[in-house]
Amino acid sequence: MNNQIYNNQVHDTRTGFSLPDFITTYLNRAGAVVEPAGYGLFQVLLPEELVPVFGREELLLAFDYEVAGETPGSTFVSHGSPLLDTVVRLALDYGRQTALYWSGKLPATPRSLEERISARIEFRHCRPPRIEASWVAENIYYGFYFRCVFRSFEKTEAVIPVFIDGCRSLPAPAFTREAESLFLLEEPEYQASPAPIRPLADLYLVARQELGKLVQQQARPLQQTALRLQERELAKVRSYFAETEAEIRQKLAASSDPDKKARLKQQLAATQADQERRIKDTRARYQVEVDTRLDHLVAYHLPCVFVRLNLQHKTFNLAQTLIYNPLQGDIELPACPRCGRASNCLVPTAAGQLLCPECLK
Ligand SMILES: [Zn+2]
Repeated sequence: MNNQIYNNQVHDTRTGFSLPDFITTYLNRAGAVVEPAGYGLFQVLLPEELVPVFGREELLLAFDYEVAGETPGSTFVSHGSPLLDTVVRLALDYGRQTALYWSGKLPATPRSLEERISARIEFRHCRPPRIEASWVAENIYYGFYFRCVFRSFEKTEAVIPVFIDGCRSLPAPAFTREAESLFLLEEPEYQASPAPIRPLADLYLVARQELGKLVQQQARPLQQTALRLQERELAKVRSYFAETEAEIRQKLAASSDPDKKARLKQQLAATQADQERRIKDTRARYQVEVDTRLDHLVAYHLPCVFVRLNLQHKTFNLAQTLIYNPLQGDIELPACPRCGRASNCLVPTAAGQLLCPECLK
């Protein structure tokens, strides 16, 4: 979450999530010495306790595929690489984990479900969906609570929660902080089989991406104030130096002594260098930097109604599972299997997949 060192394919411009930032921030926090060693390349000296985890003392991490190929001894890091999984697992170990269970009743299959589904989701070029089966299973909504420190001319701290649906691997905006009070049990008082939950490392990465957006929103007022104060101080600095410079130039114009003139010219250059330094310092003081770390993790276990649909497109049948979330009192939008985003419209492909319209463009 620090300054971007460079951009490449691992920096997601849509969400502001940067893989090099995530890895280097974690390693720094864990006590490693991390030095940039070229484009997309970092030299890492691990602290003693991490040596057994990575199996060596030093790492040379390449975040660019070509750089990795050209740099002997480097480890290429991208989404899905084992090193990333290890770092995510270690980053999660920092957070304390708790499990809480839904204290309400088991949800029943809602009435006129087919109509509700049709009203909420469009299955383009398909006949109206038919419900093939519905059952109750336990989904897990993970609450990742991040402690964020906003540092600028003043320092503020906030805990920002990010809720992720474990089944769909998507942010769950309907899961608000009020919802937390509906999960009061440390042991479940219901019986429901577990739904398939995505690996925690994947969910954590989605939570970090979401956090990036929330942090930007939260930092905006501070950035605006900082910018105003910075402009005010820069104006003062500039006017002070403009006066000083004008005085020196006047003396310079009035003097005919070559020694004195040389001295004044030196003084002028020194003043200009001084001004540049003061401007740089002022800019740095009003930058807004944000440090984020996972403080704790809560697994909210929620029984949901799962619905398997049969969809007829031309002559073939497609299946799609949807989740009815009792907390929200509605059907959750399905995640597109290609881009992972929630969509209220799915379109069949020739290969028999259901994708969002964006992925078919
Ligand atoms: Zn898609």
